[in-house]
Amino acid sequence: MTGSSVPHVLILGGTSDARKLAALIHADFEDRVQLTTSLAGRTLSPANMAGNVRTGGFGGVDGLIDYLETENITALIDATHPFATNISLHALTAADETGIPRVLIARPRWSLPEALDLKRVPDTHTAADLLGKMDAHRVLLTTGIQTLKDFSSVPDVWFLVRQIENHEAPLPLSNAATVTQKPPFTLEGERDLMTENRIDTLITKESGGAATEAKLTAATELGVCTILIERPPAPPGDQVTSPEDALAWLHDCLGRKT
Ligand code: NAP
Repeated sequence: MTGSSVPHVLILGGTSDARKLAALIHADFEDRVQLTTSLAGRTLSPANMAGNVRTGGFGGVDGLIDYLETENITALIDATHPFATNISLHALTAADETGIPRVLIARPRWSLPEALDLKRVPDTHTAADLLGKMDAHRVLLTTGIQTLKDFSSVPDVWFLVRQIENHEAPLPLSNAATVTQKPPFTLEGERDLMTENRIDTLITKESGGAATEAKLTAATELGVCTILIERPPAPPGDQVTSPEDALAWLHDCLGRKT
């Protein structure tokens, strides 16, 4: 079976969960579904993905509705990052408008060690304000390349910026170095990174998921103060917590439709 005779599944991606889900769907359904993953286009060299890939914004909710209808999408799986709140809201609205079944993969939250020296903040601006008032000198910053400018006016701090791929543009931070690493991260690796760079403060988004959790254990062991940007609330509607459960949801959804 090919093309329009089979259900067309759209994954909103940009995460390792989305990539894993595409592989699971492809292995399970083979050519019994048409599979497309949508990427925003932020990553310079996206990893290989099972199925088709489309890249770039849709042009707001209306553009997404138009895409869903034009491409005859049967089921929509939102596997975007927990902090990608705009596209998740657009997906919910567009699914409601079109009646297309949609599910969100909401990553499990981290279980934060009790002994962690933890400061919760709502956003990166507040994190930068707080950092400026702390006795912090060497900071591991893992909040993503687009948030760096928010920290540009914090004085007397050296930043180690972790990025998942090399960006050519100069950093908007005057006193910083970069380390390029892709998850999953091990406890040993996180411990070494913090020790070798004499890190006293970690700034991270509360993204959740096992692949990036080790830094919290390492920070606890080493007494590294952690500023945690709180996860925004997930939009309402159907939720699962893993690519495997999203595959089960898809089976259920396509079973109901045939
Ligand atoms: P966002 O603020 O929710 O989205 C901003 C705009 O980017 C959306 O309105 C949409 O444009 C477009 N967009 C976002 N995700 C898209 C997708 N998968 N396919 C097509 N268009 C998309 O998102 P963000 O925080 O900038 O994240 C962008 C991408 O990076 C997402 O795919 C996300 O999964 C990934 N990511 C984000 C983070 C993070 O910390 N935010 C971390 C890791 C990966 P239109 O309105 O024009 O449709």
